[in-house]
Amino acid sequence: MDNVSKTYYVNGEQVVFSNFSLAIHEGEFVAITGPVGSGKSTLLNIMFGVTRPDYGEVAVLGESVSAMSSRDVSRWRLGRISMVPQVQDLLADFSVAENVAFPMYFDGVARDALLDRVRTVLKRFGLEGYDGTVVSRLSVGERQLVAFARALVSEPAVLLLDEPTEALDGLLKDVVVATIRSENVVRKRTVVIASHDKRALGLAGRVVNLSAKGPVFSL
Ligand code: ADP
Ligand code: MG
Repeated sequence: MDNVSKTYYVNGEQVVFSNFSLAIHEGEFVAITGPVGSGKSTLLNIMFGVTRPDYGEVAVLGESVSAMSSRDVSRWRLGRISMVPQVQDLLADFSVAENVAFPMYFDGVARDALLDRVRTVLKRFGLEGYDGTVVSRLSVGERQLVAFARALVSEPAVLLLDEPTEALDGLLKDVVVATIRSENVVRKRTVVIASHDKRALGLAGRVVNLSAKGPVFSL
């Protein structure tokens, strides 16, 4: 991210996020931390290409995401970058398998091969046999796991995680923390995580604190 600025206008007030630059190397594990409202989600959304910066450039794997149309960027992401969003955006009336397969529908993967991949990734999260379950019937923690499965099914080079452990506790949290670690260490994905969780932050090679050295907000 090179000199990225973003301003929101809400009720006449503006929130400014200005001249922010950050270089993340392939294979790195970077944590973004900072208080609520410091811009963690906005940063990840800008990296993912869903939020456009007002100024500045964002390049992922050498390509300028900020210059692509939203249509192009959603195709381009496949196998390159995935996100587990903070606010889960699963399709509540669709099954677990449909949600996990969703990003791949337009990729021309044969149906059987796709279902195989979906089942394999669901198994990693202990969601075997949940393929046909409608998402609205799942607990918040289970939905978090489905969002993970959906992010990983396309084998992305870069994984963006927005507070992925905050809704979890106990064993589920252990599973998710271990998974994040192995995605970075074993599968060599670049990981960028927004989090306050000590264990999640402990996995990072570098912690970027937005309150300390990042954007300046004026409310
Ligand atoms: P964090 O993830 O660190 O809690 P966010 O990136 O969600 O912070 O939000 C940063 C600031 O930008 C907040 O003040 C928030 O209210 C504001 N903001 C985020 N998204 C929008 C939006 N779509 N419209 C207006 N303001 C927004
Ligand atoms: Mg956030």
